[in-house]
Amino acid sequence: MDFPIYKTKIDNGKKFNLTNPDQRKDYFYYKAGPEIEKLKEYIKENTFIIYLLGKKNSGKGTYSKMMAELLGAETLAHFSVGDMIRAISAEIKDPAKKRKLAEYLKQNYRGWIPLEKLIPAIEGRDTKTLLPTELILALIKREIAKRPKKTIFIDGFPRDMDQVSYSLFFRDLIGFRDDPDIMAFIDVPTSVIEERIKFRRICPTCNTSRNIELFPTAQAGYDEASKEFYLVCDNPDCAGFGKQKLVAKEGDELGVTPIKDRLATDQKLMEKAMELHGIPKIFLRNAIPVNVAKDYVDDYELTMAYEFSWNEKNKKVDMVEKPWVVSDDNGVPSYSLQAPAVAVSLIKQLVQVLGI
Ligand SMILES: [Zn+2]
Repeated sequence: MDFPIYKTKIDNGKKFNLTNPDQRKDYFYYKAGPEIEKLKEYIKENTFIIYLLGKKNSGKGTYSKMMAELLGAETLAHFSVGDMIRAISAEIKDPAKKRKLAEYLKQNYRGWIPLEKLIPAIEGRDTKTLLPTELILALIKREIAKRPKKTIFIDGFPRDMDQVSYSLFFRDLIGFRDDPDIMAFIDVPTSVIEERIKFRRICPTCNTSRNIELFPTAQAGYDEASKEFYLVCDNPDCAGFGKQKLVAKEGDELGVTPIKDRLATDQKLMEKAMELHGIPKIFLRNAIPVNVAKDYVDDYELTMAYEFSWNEKNKKVDMVEKPWVVSDDNGVPSYSLQAPAVAVSLIKQLVQVLGI
């Protein structure tokens, strides 16, 4: 896949710290102010659907959250099919809710697999029966009907090849008949996903997720015994603020190895969906070759890599940052963009495809 490189650079422009929420907002308005105003105006009266297609861990949730932050969570919803299944599976532990779901499905589900077999599969008791598309569609419809009409970012649908053509008629199925629908493709090199997983650190108290190499907290510590650096939670709402160590989740050290098959399927799915005609498409590109980056993006839009060292004399952790260089899927040395810079290209392309 070769996605177009989107230019977000403004010559001799202002600089922003994109990890700071206030500065991030200023940044968005600085780079795409008129487009944001147009979108805000548009979603007051209209809704649309975006299918986010990208490999697992390509940042689908992040972009949705950023758009909600920018355009208002009251008009925009991120909808993850995986989260939905997990939530329903937890919900139907309550027998009354289980009966209600069965009742709903009796009215709304049509398919080859009998309902009695599907409920255990939703509950996770039966892991062999894969949830068929017909069921997923009925469940999504049910969830979306619960919410007032909103612009929706759908994550996790289509998930398999047989769902690609369903996605073309999806808006009709969920009652969004005349609303525009758009496919947004996210291209992230596997090496980026690998590092995101391997160096992920999570606060056991508040679940804040950071990355010790790419997105550290404000404070880092050093364990002299194990000679390891660690991050300290800096979420002001966390009971462990300023003291709780962030930890690695078991299995994260394996990087992309356990999800290799999923990544390959996601890739094939994207390639297939890109061949579709008649549905507007948006291309979101995470990595830019080092040799052309300076023409397209500002330095502060690049993901930095952080290196820690232990200052024995002052007993403190020193940190240096420099632009992070990774090989993209073709082996080209590249920079990885920070999510807000990719979101700017999303905003601008959205305005274009919606024709507003
Ligand atoms: Zn915390």
